[in-house]
Amino acid sequence: MKNTEKMSFATKAIHAGQSPDSDAGAIMTPIYQTSTYVQASPGVHKGYEYGRTANPTRKALEANLAALENGKYGFAFSSGMAATSTIMGLLKQGDHVIVTNNVYGGTYRYFEQVMTKYGLQFTYVDTSEIQNVQSAIQANTKMVFVETPTNPMLKLTDLQELASVCKQNSALLAVDNTFLSPYFQRPLELGADIVVHSTTKYINGHSDVIGGIVVVDDEKLAERFGFLQNSVGAVPAPFDCWLVLRATKTLHLRMQQHNRNALGVVKFLVEHSEVGEVIYPGLTTHPQHELACKQQLDPFGHPGFGGMISFKMESFEQAKSVLEKVQVFSLAESLGGVESLIGHPASMTHASVPKSEREKFGLTDGLVRISVGVEFIDDLINDLKQAFS
Ligand SMILES: *Cc1c(COP(=O)(O)O)cnc(C)c1O
Repeated sequence: MKNTEKMSFATKAIHAGQSPDSDAGAIMTPIYQTSTYVQASPGVHKGYEYGRTANPTRKALEANLAALENGKYGFAFSSGMAATSTIMGLLKQGDHVIVTNNVYGGTYRYFEQVMTKYGLQFTYVDTSEIQNVQSAIQANTKMVFVETPTNPMLKLTDLQELASVCKQNSALLAVDNTFLSPYFQRPLELGADIVVHSTTKYINGHSDVIGGIVVVDDEKLAERFGFLQNSVGAVPAPFDCWLVLRATKTLHLRMQQHNRNALGVVKFLVEHSEVGEVIYPGLTTHPQHELACKQQLDPFGHPGFGGMISFKMESFEQAKSVLEKVQVFSLAESLGGVESLIGHPASMTHASVPKSEREKFGLTDGLVRISVGVEFIDDLINDLKQAFS
């Protein structure tokens, strides 16, 4: 195995966790499509006994993503939700968790409709104000689970500040880093204990896999996750691991282009008369632009803001007309793929949130969300121009 520890992000993305196959010298990690492994003598084997417990293709992916997050240990799962549900396995009946109030809908549903039945308690607060977290802490608070930036309002939480509050109160800090990927945000470096991703989004980036990953730096936590991953068993198929491993080789290139294209689209939107507020952490008008510049850094320390943009139109009718006219953009849920997507949160991703609740955090019926892909920027702008006309 190459020692990639001191190498830069791009080199790690391509090499970390991987070495030429020892049988044939294949430069690419093979898809080890196997459920079991032959032992030379009882208990004498090459580190692999059964496919749920470990698989070489999965192991390569886990090492690769751990390296990109600057953590020591990675654990791959069959979906982002499988990763989050396995994190909950760290807790026990009676424990309390503080959660970002505008967390991913599936996470909210899992916490409220499944985990509360097992005696876990959740409090949802606006974690962009650290004071709100402090006020919500109870004697039984064992974890703080945050998403930054949030979807679709792109509110940020100061991870460094939050990590110190968590440490003072002996609570674990788990960060869902799906929206920025490790290219633009590495929570472990800022003091978080656990990073979780839906690899379905930017990490895989080609809209052809559902997957998840957990990365930690602490050895004891890693032991727990190894145990939980094997016990719960929500592991990804070797082929899916191979696809994601192929995708991470270009993560840095894709993220740079997502970011550049987003800046181009934002400029167009800001200048367009029919568009109201444009929400993007890269805009100086974003209330937390300064925090974004401090916390969302590429591997060279330059601020990056990712590919997610939200903007407000006057009404649902206006938004609908744009959504129906786009041709290069596709009207779809999800995000983080090479292709540009456009969506209407109020009727799509956030339809299950009551209108009065949605509007409390600014998610109006005229709000449109864009996941900017890596197409040629002029084609994206021209598409929006014709859709707005
Ligand atoms: C999609 C998503 C998830 C859930 O991941 P799946 O792979 O769909 O299970 C969790 N968090 C965020 C921020 C997401 O966007």
